[in-house]
Amino acid sequence: MPDITYQELKPPERILLGPGPSNIHPRVQRALTAPLLGYLDPYFLTIMDDTMQLLRSLFRTKNELTFPISATGMAGMEASFSNFLERGDVAVIGVNGFFGERMVNNALRCGAEVIPLHAEWGRIIEPEAIEAALKSRPRIKLLALVQAETSTGVLQPLAEASRLAKEYEALFLVDAVTSLGGEELAVDDWGIDICYSGSQKCISCPPGLSPFTANQRALDTLKARSSQVPSFYLDLSLLAKYWLAGNGRVYHHTAPALLVYALHEALVLIAEEGLQARIQRHARNGAALHAGLEAMGLALHAQPGHRLSTLTTVRIPQGVDDLRIRQRLLNEFGIEIGGGLGTLKGKVWRIGLMGHSSTEENVLLLLSALEKLLIDEGYSVEPGAGVAAATQNLKKKAN
Ligand SMILES: *Cc1c(COP(=O)(O)O)cnc(C)c1O
Repeated sequence: MPDITYQELKPPERILLGPGPSNIHPRVQRALTAPLLGYLDPYFLTIMDDTMQLLRSLFRTKNELTFPISATGMAGMEASFSNFLERGDVAVIGVNGFFGERMVNNALRCGAEVIPLHAEWGRIIEPEAIEAALKSRPRIKLLALVQAETSTGVLQPLAEASRLAKEYEALFLVDAVTSLGGEELAVDDWGIDICYSGSQKCISCPPGLSPFTANQRALDTLKARSSQVPSFYLDLSLLAKYWLAGNGRVYHHTAPALLVYALHEALVLIAEEGLQARIQRHARNGAALHAGLEAMGLALHAQPGHRLSTLTTVRIPQGVDDLRIRQRLLNEFGIEIGGGLGTLKGKVWRIGLMGHSSTEENVLLLLSALEKLLIDEGYSVEPGAGVAAATQNLKKKAN
């Protein structure tokens, strides 16, 4: 017998208010402990079909190919670029944050040429810039935008972008990782051809699945490819042969059944709440948080009028220690928030109010905890101002 003993697994309970993951509902937690089934078990196949149908409602699409890719949100991004771009294609990509930069990286790895649309981190990509880029070259294959830039807290408007993509005959790809299930999104009505998300943000399922949808117009371009999709794991034509019942359920990889159960349960919870009610809950709690932070004299980073309710960026006041505050929130209050990414590192905090984490209690708790810690750092706050403003805001919205 080895004489070392390992600790029993006992992760602490946390309030997850970072950029994802969000807290999961007890029913989602329980789904993870249900009996494991094989990837072709008839019962599991019914759960797959239901999950696809629930995802169609959530994306608000009729697209047949709507399913969870077996990997995190990044897999949705990689699948989008590696299937729909190939060497020699030209893509126009919005770059106003960390995830826009990653999209560019993905497109370049596919051998595509990228026309980046730069905007300051914290501002939207303007339609004029999109049109100028689409006009600058013939036959642009794809326009890609991040709807909810998790690094900046900006909500990118999509309607005009979609219209322009159609006008210039480019596919329209949207990253909805931090918006699906929390912000307004309508894949079909908004003319989005390809869209992906992540299970652990506003859907409140553990990380590990990437909800994905593509319409026929996008899938038709797959047949026209002159080269094979470079990724076997993310080849949509192969994945469709397993996920779509009519295609024979051909083995591609072993479906992570427990995660699919969890996603199924999280999607049922969304259906029970009602998508519109859920989006309103996110809007209400996000607005209350914004009001509370501003009442504490803090500055919100994202462009006014284009702020996400699911993810808020707030500037760290001068003289306040970024890391110490985040560590104390975690250790003394059990609250996780995020630090800044890329150029915003050390400059902002990122507060997520996603899915099951988006509650009035969490807004008020975070504001009180933050007030105490900021006062300890020597930052002057009028005591109770944040909570009072948030409470006032919640009352106003409830009427
Ligand atoms: C989180 C996130 C991703 C990546 O998702 P992972 O699950 O971390 O792989 C992509 N895009 C945006 C906008 C995100 O917020």
